[in-house]
Amino acid sequence: MAAPWEDVLRNEPAIQEAASVAVDAALLEGVLMRTEGEPNASDVVNYAPFTLLPSAVPTVLFEQAYAVQQDFNLLVDAISQNKEFLEDTLASTIKVDDFTAQLFRIHVQVLEEGLAQSVFLGINRSDYMFDCGVDGTPALKQIEINTIAASFGGLTSRTAAVHGQVLKMLGKSKEASRLLPNNPSKGLALGIAKAWELYGSQSAVVMFLVEEVQRNIFDQRCVENELWNRNIRVIRKRFRDVFEKGSLDDAKRLYMDGQEVAVVYYREGYVPKNYDQQNWEARLLLERSRAVKCPDIATQLAGTKKVQQELSRPGTLERLLPGRAEAVTRIRATFAGLYSLDVGEEGDKIAAMAIADPDQFVLKPQREGGGNNLYGEELRQVLEKIRDSPERTSYILMDKIKPQPAINYLLRAHSPLQVSECISELGIFGVYVRQGKEMVMNKAAGHLLRTKAIEHADGGVAAGVAVLDTPYLV
Ligand code: ADP
Ligand code: MG
Repeated sequence: MAAPWEDVLRNEPAIQEAASVAVDAALLEGVLMRTEGEPNASDVVNYAPFTLLPSAVPTVLFEQAYAVQQDFNLLVDAISQNKEFLEDTLASTIKVDDFTAQLFRIHVQVLEEGLAQSVFLGINRSDYMFDCGVDGTPALKQIEINTIAASFGGLTSRTAAVHGQVLKMLGKSKEASRLLPNNPSKGLALGIAKAWELYGSQSAVVMFLVEEVQRNIFDQRCVENELWNRNIRVIRKRFRDVFEKGSLDDAKRLYMDGQEVAVVYYREGYVPKNYDQQNWEARLLLERSRAVKCPDIATQLAGTKKVQQELSRPGTLERLLPGRAEAVTRIRATFAGLYSLDVGEEGDKIAAMAIADPDQFVLKPQREGGGNNLYGEELRQVLEKIRDSPERTSYILMDKIKPQPAINYLLRAHSPLQVSECISELGIFGVYVRQGKEMVMNKAAGHLLRTKAIEHADGGVAAGVAVLDTPYLV
């Protein structure tokens, strides 16, 4: 599945020139990030890292990923409403993982109190790699689904234009014209706008809940601007601001600085380091409120790695999506092997299997954001150490996906231009809105392709490992 520009890859002068044009094009198009040195100011900004050239993606797998997205939206939504399933699935995890336990406590508390809102907004991103089977035919395999703060829907809307220009410069105009338009930020904003409308107050605002360190602000601004274009007011606040200035009235309407909040869109709150005691209190306040939460805490829990692993058990999908046999088949076709390390005979066997052949697996803790997984020798060592301890329950085990590498150049500020062997990860954005029992929106909203050099086992764009890319369908 090579791209049709192998010929230019070794033409160094042409590549050098294309790279400098590419960087300026990225800046002009707004493929931007704040700098590490000044993450909270826009005086000096840089381009977000990206590939010089688009990467080849098999058309059938690309279409398969889009075709299953509405099914995944339904699945995530179904899990979020299934208290028993979440309780049973996460029971072993919350014994050993404080973060999941704390999220779960809030989930239980708001259910006991009674949900104040019947509108639900889900924005997720299902990520895949193309596994090279024994016969060399690539297969679409899900890496994970992100149900909170799934990012890069904004910046990725702008990479196709950059890559189109690079291809033209390199004499590949025909290929440039085949790059697909892609605008997840608009799709995300349409979901938020729908939830805002259903909330039913013209003067209420959408609140982006943002991190203390805001390097990726431009990605968020793309979505914000789509909302402003629809005359929906957006405010940006941190947990700290919510703790200090947030309040609920008698009807649990959420107010920030006197402004009523219709929708809370989290771009924060997905890792333990996002929380101190005050931030947990702020999170609880938001969850208890009448504002539409994107996601609500149950939907965040639906995106945990433990849930992903339990979904792969025979019969689980059927139980969660009764009467939807075709959706179940489409979803299951994307699953790689996933294994529980719960205490007991099954977990003992799995641990022994991984220790015997660590290169076939990935060991994953219940964490998001990249850089947490264990591979190869490190996997073996860690698993050996915790093999007989309940601590092993805080991980799941997954088959390692092995994609076919391709040559590309990764462009990063202050880094020399260097050719790399790369692999890519395709993400599809899903958006849905449910009012009571009725799905009023269920869409695939666009895609994200991220590419990294093969020497990095783990990590995304924000983690400094992967870079933004554009798929070229082959
Ligand atoms: P996170 O929540 O930290 O993003 P992921 O499950 O997405 O966790 O894993 C992080 C990265 O590790 C992925 O982007 C991918 O590059 C790599 N990875 C994860 N699972 C696998 C797997 N089963 N096979 C190969 N690589 C994987
Ligand atoms: Mg990931």
